[in-house]
Amino acid sequence: MAEETIFTKIINGTIPSKIIYHDELVSAFADINPKAEHHILIVTNKPIPSVANVTKDDEPALGRLFTVARKIAEDLNVNESGYRLIVNVGKDGGQEVPHIHMHLLAGGKLGGLGFPDKK
Ligand code: AMP
Repeated sequence: MAEETIFTKIINGTIPSKIIYHDELVSAFADINPKAEHHILIVTNKPIPSVANVTKDDEPALGRLFTVARKIAEDLNVNESGYRLIVNVGKDGGQEVPHIHMHLLAGGKLGGLGFPDKK
């Protein structure tokens, strides 16, 4: 059996985290290394490694990431003022954890998205 990802351990409660949302398809918790005043990770409960691995069967869970992002944004009172959703894909995309997740960043005006690191 494949080793559990760190996010699966958080969803299962074997690693402590500040879980802020959970349903049958997705879970959300605070990022341990926040890059904005509010930095929430919304993850599929199924440990899909990355967008590079998604299939049509994953569409319900992937769609749920967005509706839960909206709910969290409303709870944070930023749904009107704005926020940023980021999904990193693969090594060059800066993905560190091989388990699909959406970053929700909020709290004031956010900086630019950035160009590739200079070699
Ligand atoms: P990515 O680079 O898109 O794969 O993002 C992975 C994110 O997971 C990073 O922002 C990390 O700070 C975050 N992270 C790693 N370990 C934990 C943890 N135990 N609890 C919460 N967030 C974590």
